[in-house]
Amino acid sequence: MSEEIVVIEGDGIGREVVPAAVEVLDAIADDSDAVGPFEYVEADAGDAVLAETGEALPRATYDLAANADATLFGAAGETAADVILPLRDAVDSFVNVRPARAYPGVDALRPETDVVFLRENTEGVYAGHEDRLSADLSTLTRVVTDSASQQLAEFACEFVEAGRGPDHRDGFTVAHKANVMRETDGRFRETVLEVADERGVAADEELMDAFATKLPLDPSQYGVVVCPNLAGDVLSDLAAGLVGGLGLLPSANVGTDNGLFEPVHGTAPDIAGEGIANPTAAILSAAMLLEHLGYTAAGGRVRTAVESVLADGPRTGDLGGSATTAEMTDAIIARL
Ligand code: ATP
Ligand code: MG
Repeated sequence: MSEEIVVIEGDGIGREVVPAAVEVLDAIADDSDAVGPFEYVEADAGDAVLAETGEALPRATYDLAANADATLFGAAGETAADVILPLRDAVDSFVNVRPARAYPGVDALRPETDVVFLRENTEGVYAGHEDRLSADLSTLTRVVTDSASQQLAEFACEFVEAGRGPDHRDGFTVAHKANVMRETDGRFRETVLEVADERGVAADEELMDAFATKLPLDPSQYGVVVCPNLAGDVLSDLAAGLVGGLGLLPSANVGTDNGLFEPVHGTAPDIAGEGIANPTAAILSAAMLLEHLGYTAAGGRVRTAVESVLADGPRTGDLGGSATTAEMTDAIIARL
């Protein structure tokens, strides 16, 4: 039986990098009896479908993503928030996995950076309880539950136990501000550390402001970093800056038995349609999708092929090369 992967190219370079990632998935499935076969179900979302139908995220796309084993998403332009937030909701994603890794052969501010952020994806200050109480006063209610913190911590422990974290660090670090937000971050911190302790996973902690200083000074201190929602958003972008190049960064929104995999970059309107977008972030997102489906070895093969091409193969313009999307993708497939 084939496994169903929903494919949403979206807008801009999403239409170029997602097909490249699908080619890589096909190459792996063709080459390995243990992987696939995959059935791709194409669905629409974004500015173009809004213009055609009046809806940025058609109900059919939402339902497909909600019921699929996994969804590969490209990017949406102006409609990004109307597309990606409900899609994350469709897959019931409780954790956003964002690796930030510098690669040999690619210019980076901090070439030793190799960290994976596990960001809480449903609550914190993004849970949406903002109020305007008067002309002079607005407030925000922050939500932290034991259950969401536990689910994230369990995921972090499994991630670490499965050896999916960087090699240079055991366990994980929890970043928080429990010295000030004693109730909410206090609950988050305590719950996460408790789960780690029960499961025998090494966990240390760092105040998030101190972390923001220490990470750029010496990223080698950190491996897997577990964060509340807003902190994870900001700190993972900080780490992205250390490794250089939006075209390199993948991400995964993981739910209990579903997932949405997407490059961190957007639609890149300045280069869209030219066939020169860097397919790396989308292809590494596909590697995360493979791992999510349980194809750990296949995901590793994709990553290794990408690293090999980044080290000495053809590269796109954003990395200082002159290869097209297709040329770089072919080189990656050739090295699988
Ligand atoms: P959006 O509003 O959709 O996010 P944007 O203008 O912010 O669009 P991004 O996609 O976030 O564009 O990209 C920011 C810059 O990084 C652009 O100059 C873009 O060309 C470049 N960039 C992003 N992704 C890639 C990629 N995959 N390959 C090459 N360049 C990229
Ligand atoms: Mg952008």
